[in-house]
Amino acid sequence: MSANKVQIKNKAAEEKRHWVRLTNTCNQRCVFCHDRRNQQGGVVPFEEIVRDLQKGRRRGCRRVVLSGGEPTLHPELARVISEARRLGYSHVQMVSNGRMLFYKDFVKALKTAGLDEVTLSLHSHLEGPFEQITRAKGSFRQAMKGLLAVLENDFIVSVDIVINKLNYKSLARTMKFFIGLGVYEFDLLHLIPFGDAWQNRRDVYYPIQKAKKYLDEAFELSRKEQVYLWTNRLPAMYLEGYEDLIQSPRKLFDEVAGMEQELKNVLETGRPMICSGERCGYCFMEAFCQDLMRLRKDKFLSARQPPPCLKKKQQLKPAVYRFRKGMSLYRFLDFFIEHRYYVKSLRCGQCRFNRQCDGAHIEEIRTKGFKALVPFKK
Ligand code: SF4
Ligand code: SF4
Repeated sequence: MSANKVQIKNKAAEEKRHWVRLTNTCNQRCVFCHDRRNQQGGVVPFEEIVRDLQKGRRRGCRRVVLSGGEPTLHPELARVISEARRLGYSHVQMVSNGRMLFYKDFVKALKTAGLDEVTLSLHSHLEGPFEQITRAKGSFRQAMKGLLAVLENDFIVSVDIVINKLNYKSLARTMKFFIGLGVYEFDLLHLIPFGDAWQNRRDVYYPIQKAKKYLDEAFELSRKEQVYLWTNRLPAMYLEGYEDLIQSPRKLFDEVAGMEQELKNVLETGRPMICSGERCGYCFMEAFCQDLMRLRKDKFLSARQPPPCLKKKQQLKPAVYRFRKGMSLYRFLDFFIEHRYYVKSLRCGQCRFNRQCDGAHIEEIRTKGFKALVPFKK
């Protein structure tokens, strides 16, 4: 990746964003939707949205992301965008399934109101899988027309794709199709084991290890100078050869913020989260949740040690984090990211140290690549 591209990506990743929910409803029923339990119908009142927008400005955010449910179903969407502008947001982005953008006058009204960027969730370029995913007849045609409309109206456009059983084999072809239309920014999202994704796990989870060649074809497109590719919650081990696409460890802060109360309860009571169990093996938070439970039980946690293959000195007195009643969850997260966020290569399975080794620190892998890990013969 060119230095310029790295700089642009880092700058974008560091920019503070404020997310604002506009609705609790959607005009699709995506087979892996993890927001279903929040979708009891209805829209968030305008005054409540304004209060939320003001909160974001107080946090120092200049960038706002309008989301839902489906934000285009809010009858006062254009007014919300104008208000965000009036409050001083310099960049207004909306995440949408794109179906309502089929209506050209509606798209123009959003432009006039001051919307800058549209992120469309378009999980395939093929009508069959697209509508198997959205479970909404006619959604493909509307969303594609919506995509063309936002491109014609010069919005910044990006596409989110949740990788799943119905689309992983055609992932690269889907991206190429969108690139052909003029979309150059993509976010590839990993499934999370909640909501409908967990309910429908047999229909959406795919053999990720065997799918690596299809994923690599998609990752390879990030080598094109004009293409900006992000991954979201995708385990690092599946990004061997494309380590620059490993998500920043700081993104864990968003994940923790999203389940803050539940995690604080673990610290207070020592009881596992209600979601813990079979789904942990599919969850991006697994290592952090395990550490939190271990800290609560043992009352301390030490820094991990570098792997034998990196031939670094083992620390005699590794850093230690001690449990205290009322301790800050986020301070522990800092410790976790600095001292415990270790990852392994898929090749570690061939190494004789595999059982006792934790792998290498994620930042080391992000900079040196997994190639730095060399398995010892069994
Ligand atoms: S890893 Fe944590 S957040 Fe994920 S399912 Fe398990 S307990 Fe829940
Ligand atoms: S190859 Fe993997 S398992 Fe073996 S020492 Fe290195 S990191 Fe550990």
